[in-house]
Amino acid sequence: MWGKSVHLFSVFYFYLSNILLKNLATQLVHGTDKQHANQASVVSDLVLSTTFERNEIGDFADGQDVYTRSSNPNRRELESKLALLENGTSAFAFASGQAATLGIFHALGGKHVIIPDDMYYNGRNLLEQCFKHRELTYSVVDMTDLSAVEAAIKPETSLIWIETPSNPLLKFTDISAVVSIAKKHNVLTACDNTWATPYHIQPFRFGVDIIMHSTTKYLGGHSDILGGCVILNEPTEQMKQSIADFQKYGGGVPSPFDCWLLNRSLATFLLRMPVHASNAMKLALFLESHEMVEQVNYPGLESNIYHKVAKKHMQNGFGGMMSVLLKMEESDLKKRASDMKYFKHATSLGGVESLVEHRRSVEGNNPTSPANLLRISVGIEDSHDLIDDFEQFLTR
Ligand code: PLP
Repeated sequence: MWGKSVHLFSVFYFYLSNILLKNLATQLVHGTDKQHANQASVVSDLVLSTTFERNEIGDFADGQDVYTRSSNPNRRELESKLALLENGTSAFAFASGQAATLGIFHALGGKHVIIPDDMYYNGRNLLEQCFKHRELTYSVVDMTDLSAVEAAIKPETSLIWIETPSNPLLKFTDISAVVSIAKKHNVLTACDNTWATPYHIQPFRFGVDIIMHSTTKYLGGHSDILGGCVILNEPTEQMKQSIADFQKYGGGVPSPFDCWLLNRSLATFLLRMPVHASNAMKLALFLESHEMVEQVNYPGLESNIYHKVAKKHMQNGFGGMMSVLLKMEESDLKKRASDMKYFKHATSLGGVESLVEHRRSVEGNNPTSPANLLRISVGIEDSHDLIDDFEQFLTR
């Protein structure tokens, strides 16, 4: 019954959001809450002041609060764009993706959460290390196994965390199915939409309650801003106050300059994403046919086991992230990765420049990634150059 309602809701939401977001590109360029002290400037002013002057009756100018931790003009502009991007009702910017995740766990006020076995590893570290003396326990499940998800729900479960496609195996969670299970048991769902971005997946369409992003990645897009955000929708307005309090009193807010930079990045978001996706598709097809490649994990490939479920949830292509299992020794793989021309051997993802990463090397004491796995963040360079670079890498 819930499955059917979620499906109908998602179809309705799809059409509604297409009508509402027709002018999204315009709003991401012009802003919805642009700040101009100097009326002649075309871009928003950077407001560095930490404190704001009161008027004769003790009030502040429109929307402003007493102190920059509570509110800052550049952050307000950013938050209004972020809410718009995900079709949410409110957005809260944080100093990192991790701070945003912490904000969600904190707002739950204890209890039990279910997380994917391949959740971003520092998200799991956050629960393991920072909540070990507090009453927030967690169960780890394979999110592609729906009966395991349902079996993990306890009477005290408050949240199921979805992260899809996953890192670094690009496993794909059936978001609608997990949401149906969660609703049946009166449990909230949160979706880390960092990898897919709203360009490819709009989690509110599938009934998800809370969206989280590391804005350090595709939304920032230039590998020069650390940031995160939480976006809420109507049904979770009661969470709004908790997240707002965590932001204001916890103080993990982004600087005005980081907000300003992210506002600039969002203006080109809709131009960057199709190039990431089409370059990734071309590279995945090339890699799939190469004899040195054991397996390509990219949901856009028809041969990929998650292709069908990914197609059900993704629009405008399949994103810029993939991983490959290579027929080579770990030491050889690392050496070759560091010798590439355009792909830099570095962590992170979602920037305009292409990156590769030997994932196992960064996973600390309990690595889970195979030794022959290379994670690839495909940038927006010319696709021929990227394929040539991999051709050299594989045949060197
Ligand atoms: N979520 C995902 C999927 C990530 O890839 C990352 C970082 O790599 C994070 C969350 C954490 O974000 P940040 O590094 O901005 O704290």
